[in-house]
Amino acid sequence: MSEIGRLINEHIRTLEPYSTARDDFKGRADILLDANESWFSESGVNRYPDPRCTALRKKIEEVLSLPFDMTAVTNGSDEAIDLLIRIFCRPGIDSVVIERPTYGAYRVFADVNNVSVIDVRLKDDYTLDVDAIGRTIDECSPRIIFICSPNNPTGALYSRDDILAVADMNKGITVIDEAYIDFSGSDGMWRSIYDNRRIVVLRTMSKAWALAGARVGMVVADPEIQEAVMRAKPPYNVSALSQSAALDMLSRKDRIEAVKEDIIGERKRLSSYFRTLPFISQVFPSDSNFVLVRTADADRLYGYLASHSIIVRNRTHEPLLDGCLRITIGSHDENDRLMEVLDGYSL
Ligand SMILES: *Cc1c(COP(=O)(O)O)cnc(C)c1O
Repeated sequence: MSEIGRLINEHIRTLEPYSTARDDFKGRADILLDANESWFSESGVNRYPDPRCTALRKKIEEVLSLPFDMTAVTNGSDEAIDLLIRIFCRPGIDSVVIERPTYGAYRVFADVNNVSVIDVRLKDDYTLDVDAIGRTIDECSPRIIFICSPNNPTGALYSRDDILAVADMNKGITVIDEAYIDFSGSDGMWRSIYDNRRIVVLRTMSKAWALAGARVGMVVADPEIQEAVMRAKPPYNVSALSQSAALDMLSRKDRIEAVKEDIIGERKRLSSYFRTLPFISQVFPSDSNFVLVRTADADRLYGYLASHSIIVRNRTHEPLLDGCLRITIGSHDENDRLMEVLDGYSL
């Protein structure tokens, strides 16, 4: 059995996947009476969607260069996190490693699947503690290590060498969540999969691609892992409306690029402005579409902004993030308003 095959849970490896009507008959026909759909087509979505997202994956390959046979489309990348835990971890037995602070969903999906979570603190400069992760690997042999890069909520990319060092030490799967990669100027790490088949990359159309409401995520992985995801996922996990919205946005790459450049420009503008504020003691470097800032009393500043109808994310109770608020980069006008309101805050 292959190295990857050994890592995949036996019940998934031997799973007989659900065979849809579209899987059973793939040709062209005039009359489809095989899926109990309605003939009434005014909704435009009376037919089941393509379970394999074929057209969308072709477009993803064309626009994002992610190879067709290495990409599976999921109902947001949150579904991908859940699927990967179910494919690689045995409930009540296996564990996953996450860093802290990071995105909260890894822990929740591990909990839902009764998989234990070991967290490793980031270093004081919010970079990966490769040595500490190495010790955890030796002690616990985790099935998955989640690495969020750029990290949410701190905002910066991790060093490529640090991520690869962890992935090499790790005998299980290393998942690199690149939800914010489009804002980073980096092409991401998916090409490292050719050197280390245990690397899995997550992408999403929720952030830079402006489709959070459509729920379109991607798993980029070795074809053997991609195939396991395709088998384990619910057959119609990405709706026809979402597939078509994603195709449409991918054909408007130039517009998305322009909006992305705008957001990066606004990120610079806001970061410089935050640095001038006496009540902000730290502005975290960001490779994403948000900026984390530190203040003496995060709850008070949060409440002040909320009283002016501006809602940010309070991260003050996370480890290492005492006093921190995460602020998403809005439109130029929204950012102007934020600055105007912050100008009126007094210590
Ligand atoms: C927003 C976010 C996601 C969720 O993406 P969806 O595709 O909307 O499910 C995943 N990972 C990180 C780090 C995020 O911040």
